Amino acid sequence: MKIAILSRNESLYSTRRLKESAEERGHQVKVIDVLKCYMNITSLKPTIHFKGEKLDQFDAVIPRIGASVTFYGTAVLRQFEMMNVFPLSESVAVTRSRDKLRSMQLLARKGVGLPVTGFAHNPDDIQDLIKEVGGAPLVIKLLEGTQGIGVVLAETHKAAESVIQAFMGLNANIMIQEYIKESGGSDIRCFVIDGKVVAAMKRQGPEGEFRSNLHRGGSASLVRLTPQERSTAVRAAKIMGLNVCGVDLLRSNHGPLVMEINSSPGLRGIESASNKDIAGMIIEFIEKKVHGSSQSQNRSKTRGKG
Ligand code: ADP
Ligand code: MG
Repeated sequence: MKIAILSRNESLYSTRRLKESAEERGHQVKVIDVLKCYMNITSLKPTIHFKGEKLDQFDAVIPRIGASVTFYGTAVLRQFEMMNVFPLSESVAVTRSRDKLRSMQLLARKGVGLPVTGFAHNPDDIQDLIKEVGGAPLVIKLLEGTQGIGVVLAETHKAAESVIQAFMGLNANIMIQEYIKESGGSDIRCFVIDGKVVAAMKRQGPEGEFRSNLHRGGSASLVRLTPQERSTAVRAAKIMGLNVCGVDLLRSNHGPLVMEINSSPGLRGIESASNKDIAGMIIEFIEKKVHGSSQSQNRSKTRGKG
């Protein structure tokens, strides 16, 4: 197969591992910086160009689109879909997962357990909103934040009020969430491929930090999931329409709560915690999809639709 990896940097661990694994399995791989792609959006023959070269005849595309380039990155991915290239994750699903509020709404509609979450635009509604999510302490999040940046724990009502006012003053889109204290600064990352949790790890923030992100100094260890956690992760992935994703759960007193879903989950932490070849499993899944079914069935469901 000819596989395109949409990534800005070939030396990133996950990009490197996917490339290595695919090459080991006899595939041809090209790492493509989406920002250097340009496109011709014509009805009958859509094309993508990269450094003067026309990109065609790829069988599959693996989007590893950074949060800061979601808009252009998903447009390039959509173009690949229009050209009938199998996307590991569809552009629509990637776009959904990048908006925390949209993701929460999709999951809530299907009855998935979530922390109580509120959203408002008007500063006049702050008091009521704080009350709605159960009062302080509470967590305030930028809708498009990532790697723990833009997530704040407000321990008192006054702190919550002023942080919300500050974010609103900057015209930032935020959501306000019940603080799950009992998770103790940890969360569970479930790595889902093709409707199965293939590995899971517990991430624990450093002393005094409520955020467990590895980028914020958190550490990872292997964890055994309960059947309920496993099924919650699988359901969440399905609802989001993601073949491969990281589903992050908080262990609350009333069962697992989905906190967020990552459509480009990092491989380093999960591969070293689980000692599994996750990159190889992803490539294997692509082989199954591309080879296992006829041309018309193996492509994306939305085929580049918005
Ligand atoms: P990001 O996209 O920046 O990773 P998250 O929503 O995943 O944002 O939040 C970052 C971290 O903060 C989580 O990994 C978790 O440890 C902690 N956290 C987030 N929301 C809550 C919450 N409602 N209750 C307790 N801890 C939370
Ligand atoms: Mg997170």
